[in-house]
Amino acid sequence: MERKVRVRFAPSPTGPLHIGGVRTALYNYLFAKKYGGDFILRIEDTDQTRYVAGAEDYIIESLKWCGLKFDEGVGLGGEYGPYRQSERNELGIYKKYVDQLLADGHAYYAFDTPEELEQMRERLKTAGGSSQQYDSVSRLTMKNSLTLSAEEVTRKIAAGEHYVVRVKIPSNEEVKFKDNIRGWVVVDSANLDDKVLYKSDGMPTYHMANVVDDYLMKITHVIRGEEWLPSGPLHVLLYRFLGWKDVMPEFAHLPLLLKPDGNGKLSKRDGDRLGFPVFPIEWKSPDGEVYSGYRESGYFPEAMINMLALLGWNPGTEQEIFSLQELVDAFSLDKVGKSGSKFDPEKTKWFNEHYLRAKSNEELAQLIKPVVLEHKFVNSKDEFLADVCGLMKERATFLNDIIEKSTYFFEAPKTYDAETVKKKWKEESSKIVEDLVVVFSNIEFKAATLEEAFKKYIEEKGLGFGVPMTAIRLAITGVGGGPHLFDIMEVIGKEESINRLNSGIKNINK
Ligand code: GLU
Repeated sequence: MERKVRVRFAPSPTGPLHIGGVRTALYNYLFAKKYGGDFILRIEDTDQTRYVAGAEDYIIESLKWCGLKFDEGVGLGGEYGPYRQSERNELGIYKKYVDQLLADGHAYYAFDTPEELEQMRERLKTAGGSSQQYDSVSRLTMKNSLTLSAEEVTRKIAAGEHYVVRVKIPSNEEVKFKDNIRGWVVVDSANLDDKVLYKSDGMPTYHMANVVDDYLMKITHVIRGEEWLPSGPLHVLLYRFLGWKDVMPEFAHLPLLLKPDGNGKLSKRDGDRLGFPVFPIEWKSPDGEVYSGYRESGYFPEAMINMLALLGWNPGTEQEIFSLQELVDAFSLDKVGKSGSKFDPEKTKWFNEHYLRAKSNEELAQLIKPVVLEHKFVNSKDEFLADVCGLMKERATFLNDIIEKSTYFFEAPKTYDAETVKKKWKEESSKIVEDLVVVFSNIEFKAATLEEAFKKYIEEKGLGFGVPMTAIRLAITGVGGGPHLFDIMEVIGKEESINRLNSGIKNINK
């Protein structure tokens, strides 16, 4: 019987969610939705030493901002909960399976102290072997339930000695599985080590909890970062040891996200070093460090998601702009490449410009309104703001650019760009502006009418276009460039425009 597609995003709350983690979540989401399946958020918090306060909330908030809604998970619940591994552990979920592995001879107790482990590594190093791991060979020289008598093991455990449970990797066997992105992965079990599955403090390790939960939560596809590829063979063995081979999920290990120059993995420090965010939303670490986020830097989630989708997945067509739904429809794992993808911050800006321009003037007006109010600008009427957005959106990359580059819509210029004044404000400029005040005062204040009147005036006077145009632009905006001047004048209105022209005559060139 075909199983319902169920995938999970399983971050550990060890810090903020890196953009690479967001991509993993996105691909899981797209895959689930494409096949009418479930997308689950599971928090893998069994390693208490790496727990960072605030990280879990950050992860949930980030997914929400990105629009990646999960169907089950922490904070939401679901049929297979709880979804936080520390809570699952308290219910004894993992211990049961650790005991099963021990009883079946697929795992064993080990009592070695950190010093003894270190001595083993030294010994193996001196002997010149290629590996210094705790494995099918070295375990025979260590203090564990394979080398100690049953009575000794029972005595040690009863005496409360620290122990770990290790998986007993077969000594010489081919372990293989098919990765949906990389094809067959084959390793010789002699190269695998006897990883710790459980500790006497009552906590399972990542491997144990991860495999047990994927099984219990009926996960059909494990889609995760390439860094987990080396864990694949161990997980495959655990499925086999626990008798779950027939329901083992399919695997897909996603390629790395690389630095813009392609030299190595994109790290959390790269963003602020190279001037772009590597986190979806701002992160303030418990010790006060602040890392910038896409949200706070003025990016739209649609732009970030669109950019991330194409970093590793290729639609096979020229199409670049995809809504989330279009991504769902087009996504497939077989178009995810094997090699790493270079991060391209300029392209992300390009996506942001696209999404900014695609928004209606009215929607943009609502988005900039809080900033307008914060600046205490006099005119914050919706219609006026929509007009400003309409004129400025072609010139903006981020929402904030609209206001930063357009303050002259909101207030009269306080200064006039010295360079432009020097080059373009001529002896006759004051007189021209004076004349135009009269011309503009007596007509309807519409861009087309203003332009027509302006053209008629310069024609009559036998003037060129440049000097008169720059003169009024300087008086109205204080700068030499911007949207079509007569559009600006129409938006700010007659009274304000005439006032500014008059102030210009008085104040420019002084
Ligand atoms: N907890 C792991 C992480 O932090 C999950 C890896 C997996 O998806 O199996 O990435």
